[in-house]
Amino acid sequence: MNLIRNWNFDNTYARLPNSFYSRVNPTKVTSPKTIYFNDKLASEIGIEFSTNDALEIAEIFSGNKLIENSEPIAQAYAGHQFGNFTMLGDGRAILLAEHITKNNKRIDIQLKGAGETPYSRRGDGRATLRSMLREYLISEAMHGLNIPTSRSLTIISSGDKVYRETIHDGAILTRVLSSHIRVGTFEFVRNFLSHEDLKLFTNYVINRHYPELVHSTNPPLELLKAVMDKQIDLIVNWMRVGFIHGVMNTDNMSIAGETFDYGPCAFMNSYNPKTVFSSIDTNGRYSFSNQPAIAQWNLSCLGSALLPLVSDDKQDAINMAQEVLDSFPNAFRLKWEKMMLQKLGFNILVVTDELKNFIHEVLIWMQQNEADYTNTFLAFNAENNVSKQVYQKDSFKVLLNKWEVLIVNSGSSTNNANKIMIKNNPYFIPRNHLVEEALDEACNNENYEPFNTLLKLISEPYTPKTEYENLQKTPKGFDENYNTFCGT
Ligand code: AMP
Ligand code: MG
Repeated sequence: MNLIRNWNFDNTYARLPNSFYSRVNPTKVTSPKTIYFNDKLASEIGIEFSTNDALEIAEIFSGNKLIENSEPIAQAYAGHQFGNFTMLGDGRAILLAEHITKNNKRIDIQLKGAGETPYSRRGDGRATLRSMLREYLISEAMHGLNIPTSRSLTIISSGDKVYRETIHDGAILTRVLSSHIRVGTFEFVRNFLSHEDLKLFTNYVINRHYPELVHSTNPPLELLKAVMDKQIDLIVNWMRVGFIHGVMNTDNMSIAGETFDYGPCAFMNSYNPKTVFSSIDTNGRYSFSNQPAIAQWNLSCLGSALLPLVSDDKQDAINMAQEVLDSFPNAFRLKWEKMMLQKLGFNILVVTDELKNFIHEVLIWMQQNEADYTNTFLAFNAENNVSKQVYQKDSFKVLLNKWEVLIVNSGSSTNNANKIMIKNNPYFIPRNHLVEEALDEACNNENYEPFNTLLKLISEPYTPKTEYENLQKTPKGFDENYNTFCGT
């Protein structure tokens, strides 16, 4: 009997033609052990469990035991990695099933690190405990920050070693996401499958993610627009909290506009638009401020995959897709300005030049003073006690005075502004030094205390907690030497 109850599977992807995936079971592991089970998420998605189920949980979410009615597949996809087109596919992830939640939402239940698949190339199909803990922490942080994201349901350590530059403990993470359909999935279908397959797949995606477009006059073109809107909202949200995805290849860009594939991502602390942490991103392609331009570039890959469906006339199709893509910069700028003004406590419909200039003044001040992106916005709210010296500077007081005048001139008050600011500016983000300390302690000393503390804080990032004020700053010099890595 399954001790975890109420699975409600309906595996639509596995009913697509078999050229879209490979059927493959997870490879068994030696001695699975439950490290984390996200009981809040479990109850949100409507599966039942009891605290006595740890063994069963470990068996199921390591892939050792298949849940009834699951149909494990590795999905095929392609993608542009750092601008170069290549065939990819789930090399270390296996989609177990699609589950319908109690709120009637369809979600993918995917095991990451579940063993080799036909798409593994030279990889071992495995993941390290350290990188899965990192994904768990940052994905839960994004969720806490109210940003669409994949969620992490479980981490199971495998009892097997994983060989990278050094030897690591292996683990499997259960990733939950509304789907794993990527821009790169469309590129795969367009380049390697038939016109009929492209049609069928586009209809599938529209039905699954954008059913409101089914009866529009040109659904493929409307799909491009809808994905663009979702991506703009997502990147604006990333820029709100200083998130740098780090590897915005087209295969890591979800059609539903959700953050996923937490590899070399990290949060920016000291404000510098050129910030990059990923060790392989030597040219800064995926730097903090380049994210909107890359999102637009990625959408052009989606547009070109959809062209044959947009119109039978090639030139007409190009013109129509181009028109959509050309609207990106302006649409992005408008939403970004609105978001930045909300971070500063303004909630207005018409953005004046004066306010636009003020946003840039604040950003320039932060960069010149190497001020913290998160804390600077907190410092505008007098109710917060941000004790850093940089906010005692005259140059900041000038900004603060100017801000007060602008707030009053906009018909608001600093009190009202504070109410808007607390919803848009987190107190806690997973700062790099805290993440590393938590992972070091967990992986080297089996001490999960710093990890649990951080997890708790970043799950409620908008709630001030004076006893943890020391976790609201980054030690000088730490980020300058900080590097993150892909696919560990
Ligand atoms: P990522 O950088 O995580 O987006 O992965 C890029 C590609 O490499 C995807 O096709 C992954 O499935 C594959 N990949 C990453 N790590 C491994 C691994 N350890 N074994 C097999 N394939 C992998
Ligand atoms: Mg990926």
